Amino acid sequence: MNAEVLTIGTELLLGQILDTNALYLGKKLAGVGVNLYFKTTAGDNIERVKSVLETACSRADLIIITGGLGPTVDDVTREAVAQFTGRQLVLDGKSMAKLEGFFRGLGAQMTENNKRQAYLPQGAVIIENNNGTAPGFILEYKSKIIAAMPGVPSEMYPMMENVVIPYIIEKTGGARQVIISKSLKVLGLGESKIDDMIQDLFKESKNPTIGVYAHVNEVEVRLTAKAGSEAEALKLIGALKKQVYGRLGSHIYGEDGEPLEQKIHDIMIEKKLTVATAESCTSGMVAYRLTSVRGSSGYYVGGINSYSNEVKTSILGVPADILKAGSYGAVSPECAEAMAKAAGRFFKTDCSISVTGIAGPDGGTPEKPVGLVYIGINVSGVIKVFKYIFPGSGENARENIRMRSTQTALYHFYREICPQSAKETMDMA
Ligand code: AMP
Ligand code: MG
Repeated sequence: MNAEVLTIGTELLLGQILDTNALYLGKKLAGVGVNLYFKTTAGDNIERVKSVLETACSRADLIIITGGLGPTVDDVTREAVAQFTGRQLVLDGKSMAKLEGFFRGLGAQMTENNKRQAYLPQGAVIIENNNGTAPGFILEYKSKIIAAMPGVPSEMYPMMENVVIPYIIEKTGGARQVIISKSLKVLGLGESKIDDMIQDLFKESKNPTIGVYAHVNEVEVRLTAKAGSEAEALKLIGALKKQVYGRLGSHIYGEDGEPLEQKIHDIMIEKKLTVATAESCTSGMVAYRLTSVRGSSGYYVGGINSYSNEVKTSILGVPADILKAGSYGAVSPECAEAMAKAAGRFFKTDCSISVTGIAGPDGGTPEKPVGLVYIGINVSGVIKVFKYIFPGSGENARENIRMRSTQTALYHFYREICPQSAKETMDMA
C-alpha cells in the first residue's frame, strides 16, 4: 500500500506553524509498513485542495488528510472531498448529538457554523473526536482510501491510532509489513567522504536502503529495512550495519539517540579517569555537554571559562609570553596546548580539554580567519592539538562555530580515550 499525506492549512504555507502532523504521520505509516512517497501541503482553498486530492489519488492508494475540518469558512476539506468524490454532505445525527452535548457541557450556546462539522460525505465511516468538535472520516472511493482528520495534533493523534491505523491493518490483511530505521552517528568524516566510502553498498541494496544525512555537528547514516516483522527487519539491518561498520570503523561513535557524551561517560567510568576543561570561544559549552550526562560527577572535576586573556593568564595559568603582543596569541596551537596543560594542573585531573578560536563575526584576520579553532586534548600528560577552520559566514555562523567546536572537542577526546582496537579501526577508515 502506498500513501500520500495531505496537510491543509494556509498557516503551514506562510511558515507560521511547523507541519508536525506530516512528521507524525510519516512515522506512524512506516510503523505499519505503508510506503509514503509524497507529502503535499495546500492552503485553505477548495479548488487547490481538490487539485492535490486528484494528484494524490493518481499515485497513492491511501490518502491521509489533516486540517480544514473545523467550523469556519476557511475549513474546506469536507466540501473538497465531497465534490471530488461526487458525494453529498449529509447530516450525521450521532455527530450532531455529540456536538450539542459538547457545548452543553461547556454551558455555551452552539453557534450555527459549528453544525457544519456534523455534515459528512455520504457513505463515510465517521471517526469520533473525543478531544474536540470536528469528527473525522474515512471514505473509500474507486479503490482508494481517503481518511480526513482535524489539524489539531492532540485531536488527530488518537483518531489516527485508534481508528485509521486499525483500518489500514485490516485492509492490508496478512500482507502487513513494518519499516524500521537505525541511525549510525558518524564523526570526523564529511558527508561526501562517507558517500565515497559506502556508495557501492547503497547501489547494491534496495532493502535495506541507506541514507546519508549531514547535520551541523555530525553525519548520520540511516539504514532502513522493510519486512514482515520487526525482528526480520532488524536482521536485514544488522547484516548491512556490519558492512557499514567495516567501512567507517569507529568514526561511528553511536547509534540512534545515544549522545557522544554518554559514550565518553562509559569509558571514563570504566577507565576511572578524571577530566577538566578550559574553554575560550565555547565558554563552557564543552563542560555543559560533559555534565549533561547523569553520573558525570564521577569523572568531571571542573572547568575554567577563560574567555579573556587576563583570565587565561592570571587564573588558568597560561604563560603570559604566549599571549603578549607579537607572540603566538590566544588563538594558536601553543595557547590551546598551554590551556589544556594548565587545566589539568589546576584541577589535578588525568585528562583535560581546551578550546580556543574565533567565533566571529568580528575579530578575523587573513592569517586567523573567523572559524579558526584549536582544540587541545590532554590524556595522562600526552597533549595533542587539532586545528579546524569551520565555515565562518552565513546565518548562525557564530553559533554553528561554537557548536561544532564543542562537538569536535568531544569527538577528539572520545578518540583519545577509547580502546586501542577502536582507534586502529578509526585510523584505517
Ligand atoms: P484545522 O483543523 O485546519 O482547523 O487546524 C487547527 C489547528 O491545528 C491549526 O490552527 C494549527 O494550530 C494546528 N494544525 C493544523 N495543521 C497542522 C499540521 N499539519 N501540523 C501541526 N499543527 C497543525
Ligand atoms: Mg485550518
